[in-house]
Amino acid sequence: MHNFQPAQDELKDKVILVTGAGDGIGKEAALSYARYGATVILLGKTVSKLSAVYDQIIAEGGAEPAIVPLDLKGATAKHYKDMAATIQAEFGRLDGVLHNAGILGVLSPFEHIDLPTWQDIMQVNVTGAMLMTQALIPVLKQAQHASVVFTSSGVGRTGRAYWGPYAVSKFATEGLMQVMADEYANSTLRVNCINPGATRTNMRARAYPGEDVNQLKTPAELMWLYLYLMSDSSLTVNGQSIDAQRK
Ligand code: NDP
Repeated sequence: MHNFQPAQDELKDKVILVTGAGDGIGKEAALSYARYGATVILLGKTVSKLSAVYDQIIAEGGAEPAIVPLDLKGATAKHYKDMAATIQAEFGRLDGVLHNAGILGVLSPFEHIDLPTWQDIMQVNVTGAMLMTQALIPVLKQAQHASVVFTSSGVGRTGRAYWGPYAVSKFATEGLMQVMADEYANSTLRVNCINPGATRTNMRARAYPGEDVNQLKTPAELMWLYLYLMSDSSLTVNGQSIDAQRK
């Protein structure tokens, strides 16, 4: 799996939704999926960033992407159902979802965690992804095989001081993945987590402002796993939480 070498048309004819597609790891994943033939649905908060990714995909000769401007903080079940109906009408199916959008919040001692911050992080990182997946199940079932990928973190497996709500949100993400993977085990749907590991993005820079970013992997270096889990090469992989960086 670590040596996964995608064929040039590995994701041809696949329709893949990427959340947080405007920046960081999500942007790189959207560009990579398009390079390997997928039609990408770019979901995110900042429209100008999504437009820039759209333009880059077109400039590189990729299939025309779709843009879904949506703030996961305020989105309701109805937003997700409407989005699913549009995907059904436009494409007739959905082959993959990469739940990548996430927020870090503020690192702080446990005693300083405030409820609004806690709730925002849970809303964006967990509840939004859960509601979106629920709404998308009917279109995912239209695909011959569908892959749902959640984004975890090292602090979603072992807790770490001061990472409070973010860490708990990633534990919840791992739990949601496991529940779904078990529930859909005998279906066309597979559900897994990626733990990107320390990666050169704005989020990482906020968490570790003093760090030498040149020591960090770039999003491009993780793409083998992002491509693998969306490709038919991973059809038998279900319920796994996989590290994108080899130890
Ligand atoms: P970035 O902060 O660089 O990018 C996050 C993306 O999520 C942005 O495109 C952002 O959009 C989008 N987003 C944030 N909030 C919302 C919202 N409310 N609604 C819609 N979209 C939103 O983060 P990374 O690329 O570093 O992280 C990607 C994922 O990987 C996250 O889930 C993160 O927790 C996880 N991760 C990252 C690690 C790292 O070292 N970088 C390590 C472990 C896990 P906008 O730019 O418009 O705000």
